[in-house]
Amino acid sequence: MPPVAPTVYTRQTLPPKGSCWYCEKPLDSVRRFCGKECHDAFDEEAEFTR
Ligand SMILES: [Zn+2]
Repeated sequence: MPPVAPTVYTRQTLPPKGSCWYCEKPLDSVRRFCGKECHDAFDEEAEFTR
């Protein structure tokens, strides 16, 4: 496995926080995104800021 920069969250390392990581919509505590759109959008942003 390639090393991951500790300051950069990817969707695999994101801890569930009770709301969507992208749009902050409240979610149950085990989900990170409210849907695929936010998931993909967050991913694209992560790629872009890497
Ligand atoms: Zn969302």
